[in-house]
Amino acid sequence: MRYVSYEEPFKNKIFTEKQMREVYRDMVNKKEYPDFDCWISDMLKSGVFETEGEWEKLKELKPCKWCGGKGKWISMPHDKDILVAIECMDCHIGTGFRKNKKEVLQLWNNKRRKVGK
Ligand SMILES: [Zn+2]
Repeated sequence: MRYVSYEEPFKNKIFTEKQMREVYRDMVNKKEYPDFDCWISDMLKSGVFETEGEWEKLKELKPCKWCGGKGKWISMPHDKDILVAIECMDCHIGTGFRKNKKEVLQLWNNKRRKVGK
């Protein structure tokens, strides 16, 4: 299993299981996450990391519903979290910021689907 992150400082880097364990060992607060498995499951749930296969799916953004432009991921820090959204690079209409990346992707792609083609 390999993992990908969309957040700094790991943006777009691919991690092997072994490297993920090193990240956990060196950077994670062990009081918050006492073991690797609970950390990684939380990371996957919140979308900070994705498995490589899932990431490939997430990268495929549908074109903008309004203008057909390209969507891009944007992120914004909020309290302790990072919120993400997808915004059109041409008309700048976006999904609005959410914590969960998959939810944002669904919003973006579903908005598109309603138009039908
Ligand atoms: Zn657009």
